[in-house]
Amino acid sequence: MHRSFGSFIRWSVAAIGVFWMLSIPVQAGPTPEEYVEYVGKGAKIVPPGQLKLGDYRMSCGRRPTVIDNSLDDYGAAYPGFLILNMKLMNKIPKPVRMWIYSHECAHQFRGPNEEVADCFAVQRGRRRRWLSLTGLEQVCKFISPATGDSMHFSGSERCEQMRKCFRTKKVF
Ligand SMILES: [Zn+2]
Repeated sequence: MHRSFGSFIRWSVAAIGVFWMLSIPVQAGPTPEEYVEYVGKGAKIVPPGQLKLGDYRMSCGRRPTVIDNSLDDYGAAYPGFLILNMKLMNKIPKPVRMWIYSHECAHQFRGPNEEVADCFAVQRGRRRRWLSLTGLEQVCKFISPATGDSMHFSGSERCEQMRKCFRTKKVF
């Protein structure tokens, strides 16, 4: 169900499916260049700070983004870079796209914990004013079909947590 580079981790937003390519150690993963070469035509690297979702510039520290429209999910991340399927991303509301990007970005800095990644994304959106309560409900609607597993809580539980995060002052 996924392209495999061997032993490494890939984080996913788990909207359509749950893809926790869990293999330890985490250290060894593909570089963005290796990934693009593996995927083949169509995939490309967007340098750090140059990604635009709609008219909003997104950044994730010095992490580049690989646009891969054949990815089996909206977004994913390997340690060191993010991956987006823009064909899918363009079909969903803007705040949801930005939330996905930020969720994947959160894994870069906060590790594999899904709840933390969700909360990080929500608080970043609130702080940078691209996420309103209405946007948050769009995110909730988006992830609601996801069923829980050991890594991703079910959509409704995740939303409950995110609503709390949106309200709380504590910053992740
Ligand atoms: Zn995640």
